[in-house]
Amino acid sequence: MYDLIILGAGPAGYYAAEKAGEAGMSIVLVEKSLIGGICLNEGCIPSKTLLHSAKLYKQAKKFTSFRITATDVSLDISAIISRKDKVVSTLRRGLAFTLKKCNVIMETGAGFILPQKTTFSMCRSKIQFSKRAPDGLHGFRANPSSNSGR
Ligand SMILES: Cc1cc2nc3c(=O)[nH]c(=O)nc-3n(C[C@H](O)[C@H](O)[C@H](O)COP(=O)(O)OP(=O)(O)OC[C@H]3O[C@@H](n4cnc5c(N)ncnc54)[C@H](O)[C@@H]3O)c2cc1C
Repeated sequence: MYDLIILGAGPAGYYAAEKAGEAGMSIVLVEKSLIGGICLNEGCIPSKTLLHSAKLYKQAKKFTSFRITATDVSLDISAIISRKDKVVSTLRRGLAFTLKKCNVIMETGAGFILPQKTTFSMCRSKIQFSKRAPDGLHGFRANPSSNSGR
């Protein structure tokens, strides 16, 4: 039994989970893809990491006008992408650690809201709201075409 079930571990979901965990609630955070959402895995972080490399390269090309000599300045695209992947995976691990510290339970899978249900079901597990859950929250199931929702 849990107090709160959050669908999606993007910035909105993981921040809510972190705060609810700190407040002592029991929480399940359900993510169908990668923890961190668009921001961490495809948007803000990867784009800024790539942009930083591009900015440094652009500056390096202008070194001579500042009387700085740098020979053979070149871009290694695959190394830049590897660095970006490393930054993202390091942050993802850090985020998972933070959530664990806040007692947030992670579940992998897509959740769906079903009207007038009180149980969240996934392939591996069935999760129920505790009595503390607000009346307005309904049940969930992992897959709209499955019969696992209760
Ligand atoms: C290229 C790019 C650059 C960006 N740069 C910036 C920036 O510099 N600064 C900034 O503030 N914002 C930036 N953004 C916007 C930022 O990424 C979003 O505002 C932010 O990710 C929104 O967070 P969210 O948690 O609402 O949604 P999302 O990040 O989209 O997370 C939603 C999560 O929920 C999961 N999910 C969805 N449905 C279900 C379900 N039914 N069951 C389980 N899981 C589910 C998804 O897999 C996803 O992981 C950028 C976006 C892009 C595309």
